[in-house]
Amino acid sequence: MKKISKISRYLEVIIAIVFVLISLIFGYNIFQKEGIGLEESPYADALVNKNNSSNSDNLANFNSSSDNLKVHFVDVGQGDAAIIELKGHYMLIDAGTNASESTLIEYINKLGIKKFDCVIGTHAHEDHIGGMDLVIKNYDIDRFLFSKHTTTTKTFENFVKELNNKNIKLYSPKVGETFEFMDSKFTVMAPNSLNYEEINNYSIVIKLTYKNNSILFTGDAETLSENEMLDNSDVDLKSDVIKIAHHGSSTSSSLKFLKAVDPKYAVISVAKGNDYNHPHKAVMLRLRALNIAVYRTDELSTIVMESDGENIKFDKNRASYSYVEN
Ligand SMILES: [Zn+2]
Repeated sequence: MKKISKISRYLEVIIAIVFVLISLIFGYNIFQKEGIGLEESPYADALVNKNNSSNSDNLANFNSSSDNLKVHFVDVGQGDAAIIELKGHYMLIDAGTNASESTLIEYINKLGIKKFDCVIGTHAHEDHIGGMDLVIKNYDIDRFLFSKHTTTTKTFENFVKELNNKNIKLYSPKVGETFEFMDSKFTVMAPNSLNYEEINNYSIVIKLTYKNNSILFTGDAETLSENEMLDNSDVDLKSDVIKIAHHGSSTSSSLKFLKAVDPKYAVISVAKGNDYNHPHKAVMLRLRALNIAVYRTDELSTIVMESDGENIKFDKNRASYSYVEN
């Protein structure tokens, strides 16, 4: 009898210690969540709705039709290229890298495209205009938007050479300017200035609206440009989908900006094992904390989203929030 009561006393002590430890851990958790920024919280995961793993929010109500708007985020490695398709008409936003130009051309040909109603080169960096010379050479282009800046790279030279060959003039749109594309329209949100130190900030940012759906294409616009967009009360940033700027770099996608756009879905065009460690940890933690479903080309390759004007459908299941520690 004596032995048993000794053991039960030990048990009581052990249980008490475990209880104290558990309450310390949980108490600490709650404190941390309140005590530090949402974006940096290691417990942000707890805020994510784990059941949301499908490729659409409302598949049952999705109205399949060949008239739907489609956006093809073509896997061009560490670069950007998006083809917008509506009723047999096409737009192109950026043309990937020099290395990926044959991939892009093949994809364009597979869709049977002969002409682009509009091509947008967001800015002069090689990962956005690398394939532009071949695009200009091979297809008719009705309108070409490019912001007012130049560089002296070989890629930019090739781009200008082909523009001259086809006698295409670049048009630099102003913020607030709206263009029609079949049943959709897009509004220019940036750049807000004519002079930037960082070429990324010259990025043309557009919001494409199709009926009740909208998609924000951000190029590589950095926080400086994001803040200018936030300060402009004439433009409404709210969009269902955001093409994350600058391949998920932490120089873009501030928490304030993401909250203003308030998207359900984010697309990141990025290469696996790239030299920049894109997408960056801070951006992935923000996206996760805000419960924005992420679609990324390094995990899913080319991604096609479709809008019936009310609901949005992706052709792949959402990707992970993973990042490389640096
Ligand atoms: Zn880029």
